Amino acid sequence: MHTHTDNSVWTVSHTDEIPRTGENVHNHIFKIVRDQHGDFIITLSEGKLPKEFGLTTEHLTGKKLTDISFACKDDEALLPHYEMAFKGQVVHFETRIQTRTFFTTLSPVIEDGTVREVVGSSTEITERKQVEQQLQEAEELYRCLVEDTLVGVYIAYVEHPGFVYVNPRLAEIFGYSQDELVKMTASDLVVPEEREIIRRNQEWRENGDRSSIRYQFRGLRKNQRLIEVEVLQKTSTYKGKPAVIGILQDVTERNRADEMIRKSEMLSIVGQMAAGVAHEIRNPLTSLKGFVQLLQAQASSHQDYFRIMLAELNRIEFIISEFLVLAKPQVIIHREREIRPLLEHVVMVADTHAIMYNVQIVTHYEKNLPRIPCEENQLKQVFLNLLKNAIEAMPRGGEVVVTAKMEGEVMLVAFTDQGCGIPEERLGKLGEPFFTTKENGTGLGLMVSYKIISTHGGTINVNSKVGEGTTFEVRMPVR
Ligand code: ADP
Ligand code: MG
Repeated sequence: MHTHTDNSVWTVSHTDEIPRTGENVHNHIFKIVRDQHGDFIITLSEGKLPKEFGLTTEHLTGKKLTDISFACKDDEALLPHYEMAFKGQVVHFETRIQTRTFFTTLSPVIEDGTVREVVGSSTEITERKQVEQQLQEAEELYRCLVEDTLVGVYIAYVEHPGFVYVNPRLAEIFGYSQDELVKMTASDLVVPEEREIIRRNQEWRENGDRSSIRYQFRGLRKNQRLIEVEVLQKTSTYKGKPAVIGILQDVTERNRADEMIRKSEMLSIVGQMAAGVAHEIRNPLTSLKGFVQLLQAQASSHQDYFRIMLAELNRIEFIISEFLVLAKPQVIIHREREIRPLLEHVVMVADTHAIMYNVQIVTHYEKNLPRIPCEENQLKQVFLNLLKNAIEAMPRGGEVVVTAKMEGEVMLVAFTDQGCGIPEERLGKLGEPFFTTKENGTGLGLMVSYKIISTHGGTINVNSKVGEGTTFEVRMPVR
């Protein structure tokens, strides 16, 4: 008998071995009748197996089934099968004898409505069982490794566009179902600007390049949101044809964390520079301004020029003062303050600005807001910045809603406008120094605001929809 000795689960597909198990060769043919006492009496026992066990017809004829043991300890469990067969049913069952497995069929022979005898046939299926079990183990392993894993997995033929296989996680990453995804091609999942990379990569493969590659691209989810993904891909063969096998991971969060670190490093460098530069500029600026004002008072002509010079000097001064906030973060004195009067003050200051833009400021303050430890002037500066931005986002007028409320232990102050919105690819730039889309903007307001709120242990979060509006949410711990 051939026994399967190779235990490796990867070799289960030796399909040529299955016919050799002799599955269709009857190893044991036997007949049984039932006597008047209800006992099962053997009348025939032939084949390879009974020879091996010494249980041929000549040894067994006339013996009761219960008298012989097929080297099988629980003969009792077999009897119900025979009972059923004698009731006229065809019965199939499996038995194990030591390490071997047999498949038995009992067929009743019916004459005049009664079962005259039962013809049985047994076949050894040990090998098939082993193969089945290995197949099951391989399937389990595959399920663990590929189906239930945390990374996206795909297989695609080199010569055809499209996927042959995608695992559930890959579908989840892109927001499609597995069925939808296999009908698509790799370039459908990539932003248009980066499809060229995919195409070139495919070309290399077609020309026989077998090297594995790792690259990052910006993916496009079903809901059109951008995600950053990292792919590790290797060429192999699948069902005899050259295919690429790849794993893919969503690294959006990881990249965002890296970005935050970069940004905060940049902020501290800018802050240090600001400390030096601002002071150096401020002093000469004061004398420049003084002398311009002096000349303006004495001169009888060129008043327009003086006005412009003064306006420009004021602008420089304003930029410097924004910078100076970064320069002295250490000397902040935090005191417990009521937020409501602070906000009321800011709204009042912004109101003249709002009128120019035909903007209404609507306020919703929750009752009994607790005090929060803060540097009052700095917080005012943040709120004024955000309010001004909201107003400036609506050149044709509209409404800005200012909300202050508690979220558990955190105070939320939100500014919602109905303005132009901020495109997704620009969200990452907010807070970078000098990033502005305004003709007269400084691009410092948000940088300063982020800095101030982070020294207060809080966060600023932006939700925006192009054409619909933007909400800036400031969250600060109450203690
Ligand atoms: P500035 O206001 O001087 O441009 P900020 O740092 O305050 O500088 O803002 C930077 C940029 O962020 C703005 O130029 C604008 O493009 C964008 N922005 C900020 N707030 C909003 C908002 N509420 N709606 C739309 N865009 C905004
Ligand atoms: Mg601004």
